[in-house]
Amino acid sequence: MANISKNSYIEYSYYPRNAMKDSFNRTIDYVRIAVTDRCNLRCFYCMPAEGIPYEPKAHLLSYEEITRLLGVLGTIGFKKVRFTGGEPFLRKDFMELLESTSRLGAFDSINITSNGTLLQKHIPRLKELGIHKINLSIDSLNKDRFHKITRRDDFEKVFETFHMLLANDFKIKLNAVIMSGINTQDIIPLAELAKDHSVDVRFIEEMPFNGGYKENLKMYSAKDIYKDLKTHFPNLKTLDMKHGDTANLYKVPNHQGNIGVIAAFSRTFCNTCNRLRISSKGDIKNCLYDDGVFNIRDYMRTGVSDKELQLKFQDLLRLKPKDGFEAEKMRKGGSKNMESMSVIGG
Ligand code: SAM
Ligand code: SF4
Repeated sequence: MANISKNSYIEYSYYPRNAMKDSFNRTIDYVRIAVTDRCNLRCFYCMPAEGIPYEPKAHLLSYEEITRLLGVLGTIGFKKVRFTGGEPFLRKDFMELLESTSRLGAFDSINITSNGTLLQKHIPRLKELGIHKINLSIDSLNKDRFHKITRRDDFEKVFETFHMLLANDFKIKLNAVIMSGINTQDIIPLAELAKDHSVDVRFIEEMPFNGGYKENLKMYSAKDIYKDLKTHFPNLKTLDMKHGDTANLYKVPNHQGNIGVIAAFSRTFCNTCNRLRISSKGDIKNCLYDDGVFNIRDYMRTGVSDKELQLKFQDLLRLKPKDGFEAEKMRKGGSKNMESMSVIGG
């Protein structure tokens, strides 16, 4: 195991139950970490066809750095972690990262978001590690539309992964970005998967994080998605939201899973935000829509102690903006977003 506490006097086995509050009294206890900026798909809402310029590997957070950061976040009350990317399973040491995170014992919940193309062979080890919460991105159940969106021919593989995860009792959420003129006809077929399968389906508004190559979103709003759902399922019930939920939640009576609609662009959920993001190169994002408020990789590489890291996180979290609109206003580059979601992690 990595020597994660080399410069430390923090006792990693002590994890407080109380999480930090930000200056709007929101409990912040969920970290999303992008472990790579690389991806084997080319979803057009995320990056251009030719891909994005990848950072040299040495610029990405290393295994030791990620494990250390997660250990430190555990000491300030973080309870949930999500590994994302890029495609996290492209990272060669990803399973080791999951193992070291599991060994830390800091997190009640270790989650992964994946495109499902590379994870099948890891299912047995994920089960052994007790990691059973996976968000799988599938924007269409139609092979041709899937290809049009992802620019790759992997629908069958991804759908097979979905069924393998189901068969192995994973708790799955399907994520679908819904776009006008592209895949609105997939809303009902995707929602119907929750009828006979134990899967929650999440519809997401498109956001402007596509590597800067396209200005006009094809977003179909959360309200439009809800309207389609309600028309098809007149008995759709609205469920209560819990702290940290980004989705408005619905349930069709007798369906096994629920349906969520995430107003990611309309940003209606910021008042219950509970999250911190770390990009693959160590940029801390207090909000998806901020520019990155600090580079924790560079700070760590100056040789700071764990206590200094802990204090730095506490200082940064106090700067968390009220909502995504405020964060966007403070961007140095204005509201034109140049990053790809593959760097930020979603
Ligand atoms: N590669 C993995 C995947 O696709 O699941 C993990 C990383 S991906 C960036 C995380 C999530 O962000 C996916 O569910 C993806 O659909 C979503 N996403 C990417 N770009 C987006 C955008 N411009 N607007 C809304 N969601 C986006
Ligand atoms: Fe890759 Fe995920 Fe971005 Fe699609 S959304 S290109 S799978 S990182």
